[in-house]
Amino acid sequence: MDAKNPTLSLPPKPREFGFHVGGRWIATGKRETMERLSPGHDVPVTRITLCTRKDLDEAVAVARKTFDSRVWSGISGAERATVLLRAAAGIRARAEELAYWETLETGKPISQSRAEVEGAAGIYEYGAGAARCLHGDSFNNLGDKLFGIVTREPIGVVGLITPWNFPFFILAERIPFMLAAGCTIVAKPSEMTSATTLIMAEILTEAGLPDGVFNVVTGTGPEIGQAMTEHVGIDQISFTGSTAVGRHALLASATNFKKAGLEMGGKSPQVVFADANLDDAADGVVFGICHNAGQCCVSGSRLIVEKSVADEFEKLLVEKFARVRIGDPLDPSTQLGAIVSTAHNEKILGYIRKGGEEGARLACGGESVASKAGRFIHPTLLADVTNDMAVAREEIFGPVLTMITFTTRDEAIAIANDSVYGLAASVWTSNLDKALGTIRRIQAGRTWINTTIAGGPEMPIGGFKQSGIGRDTGMYGVEEYMEVKSIHIALGGRDHWVS
Ligand code: NAD
Repeated sequence: MDAKNPTLSLPPKPREFGFHVGGRWIATGKRETMERLSPGHDVPVTRITLCTRKDLDEAVAVARKTFDSRVWSGISGAERATVLLRAAAGIRARAEELAYWETLETGKPISQSRAEVEGAAGIYEYGAGAARCLHGDSFNNLGDKLFGIVTREPIGVVGLITPWNFPFFILAERIPFMLAAGCTIVAKPSEMTSATTLIMAEILTEAGLPDGVFNVVTGTGPEIGQAMTEHVGIDQISFTGSTAVGRHALLASATNFKKAGLEMGGKSPQVVFADANLDDAADGVVFGICHNAGQCCVSGSRLIVEKSVADEFEKLLVEKFARVRIGDPLDPSTQLGAIVSTAHNEKILGYIRKGGEEGARLACGGESVASKAGRFIHPTLLADVTNDMAVAREEIFGPVLTMITFTTRDEAIAIANDSVYGLAASVWTSNLDKALGTIRRIQAGRTWINTTIAGGPEMPIGGFKQSGIGRDTGMYGVEEYMEVKSIHIALGGRDHWVS
């Protein structure tokens, strides 16, 4: 153990949370609660409130009243920016606390949680800049008698539903953009990972966000999530999660035809050409499937490698997988942490078995890590995979890489696009023509050349096909939460219609 960077201790008892509406904590009272076990240690770490539909109605009413009061929607971008900058400072001041609870609830390595918290603070700073850049258009080409202005206005109350894999970072990829636009928010984090969303509510209040602008209700998806998507008091749903639940969210949003922004699943290709720097590519591919234990929407889980280098590349991968440090998520040296739940662990192991039944060859991994508390799975490589196998078509969401080979570039592109998903893709080659020529033909919203899972708040995220609708982050992400209004102004008096 590194004495300067020790393994953190578990909390002596679970931390209890109420929920946060109108700028204040509401105690659990007589409501039911739900306990969360740390996936890396199997001990209870948090307890959240199971809010009722009445609690949700009250939170939506508060968000609506606050929006209509114009206390946030009516102030200047500069004033909104000040609050967002203070929120970023608040995150940095409580970074260690946020990272600790994020790791305890998700099972991700503490070093990763720390990096995500720091990255999140930077996104709030970007949001502050975005709030000051909002503008519309003018049309001076409608003739001398008409002038046009196009304005953007906040859409209203946004219902924000988030998943368990990046609870705090995904929150940061949404809140600053909604707030920069001038919206009010009712958030529902995953019932497995609510702690850091609740702490964020406190940070925003302390940053000077007016009461009622950001509200958090906690509870299960089928109960509170479903009620949010159906709620006629909500103007837009921002849903991040699986494609199956996203489909529900879209259908339920038809109650009042609320706008639905959906960020959903993926089965993202990593295309490796023979002329790539294979050592770099292998490192990127290993990182891409081990990051967050493969429980990452943009994991490059479908490796498509040129046949002439397939054996050499497989050897490199197996060597690197063996060196990934698996272990206690609270140990700063851990690279690969725990699987989020027992049910999900079984699902991943089931896919590994299914791959074998379908004819895939297990090149490494394939089993749980022995003698550890919690649930961990060795990084797994399934070779000799064809793109029609379930392991190549369905989102496994664990540290399981499937390897498919190709001989021509057209074949590689066809395999990459033969998926219902279109979330992300990487291409590895030392030839720029080949890199751009390939990436331009791959149907995916977030793509990389000679790297993977890199980015910043300037760049938009979102999916093609069944991976999503709409875009988050960047200026695209602010516009997502705004309505567009055209204003026509008559000039120089009216040519009368009635003679
Ligand atoms: P999930 O769909 O099970 O749950 C996501 C959220 O929806 C949770 O808060 C959950 O409580 C809620 N929910 C569940 N049932 C609901 C219902 N009937 N109505 C409304 N809300 C409901 O997803 P998950 O298991 O938490 O997360 C993993 C999935 O999320 C993966 O498919 C992953 O690819 C996807 N994801 C996508 C992105 C992206 O940006 N595209 C990012 C992260 C995760």
